[in-house]
Amino acid sequence: MSRRYQSKRELSYLPNGGKDKQMYVKLKMYTTGSCGQLEKLTNRTKPLHHVQFPARFFHLEHPTEGHILVDTGYATHFRTATSRFPYKLYAILTPIHFSDEQSAASQLQRRGIQPSEIRKILITHFHADHIAGLKDFPNATFLCSRRGYESVRGQSGLLALKKAFIPSLLPDDFESRLSFIEDYAVSQDSSIGQQLAVFETEIYDIFHDGTVVAFDLSGHAEGQMGFLCRAEQRQVLLAADGAWDSAAIRDNSPPMRVTSLILSDRSEYLETLHKLHQFHITQPTVQLIPFHCREVEGLE
Ligand SMILES: [Zn+2]
Repeated sequence: MSRRYQSKRELSYLPNGGKDKQMYVKLKMYTTGSCGQLEKLTNRTKPLHHVQFPARFFHLEHPTEGHILVDTGYATHFRTATSRFPYKLYAILTPIHFSDEQSAASQLQRRGIQPSEIRKILITHFHADHIAGLKDFPNATFLCSRRGYESVRGQSGLLALKKAFIPSLLPDDFESRLSFIEDYAVSQDSSIGQQLAVFETEIYDIFHDGTVVAFDLSGHAEGQMGFLCRAEQRQVLLAADGAWDSAAIRDNSPPMRVTSLILSDRSEYLETLHKLHQFHITQPTVQLIPFHCREVEGLE
């Protein structure tokens, strides 16, 4: 059963779904280091060997909204946050390869984009490898699902760790800069609706122009969101951790059962994976990106 999140959203429906103005975002993918893990854990068909899973974030340049990020990947704050118990256990269980110049802020600066220019960060979910750089962007507002934030809000210690969440990675003023995706307008673009129909969930139009729409991909984490972006060359579905790799989506191949320890809901995860598999079959022209997949390329 898919869950439809009930929210008190403002019903600011768009009369035309933004169709009369086809706008696009420029989209680039960045890798902020990696963490080592047994590949078989993430996909039963893979061999039992250690591989490095890249930790990614995405930079979107919107023609009127400016510089937007989707997640941040690892950052120096991760090292500080995991220097003491119990959070040190996180770093022990998923040993990372990361150097300071790989942080989102450093990489963007080298491309001429200052951290102060980032206006909005879309958060797919609150696992530490996705939010470690939030503190580096002082002027950004944050956007996530209400369900996602409520699942970690106020949690600390082992309870937080069980959800791969480290509360000190959130900026002190996080909540005052936060809004919820469920309060955004529901997309009225019928072509986007048809494309994403397989997910059987609400579709939220983040910039009221169809360039970036958000929808639920729960299972890996509660309230995890994916984003369908209308990029210049093609549509790109940012699938967060809906699967660990593209092969798992192509083959509808589940992770090993032991990974249930870190999934918020295994049956929901499998349902989401199946939907991503169906999407892959019905929308072959859309580039589908699981954030830790090693075979994704072409967006750097
Ligand atoms: Zn995750």
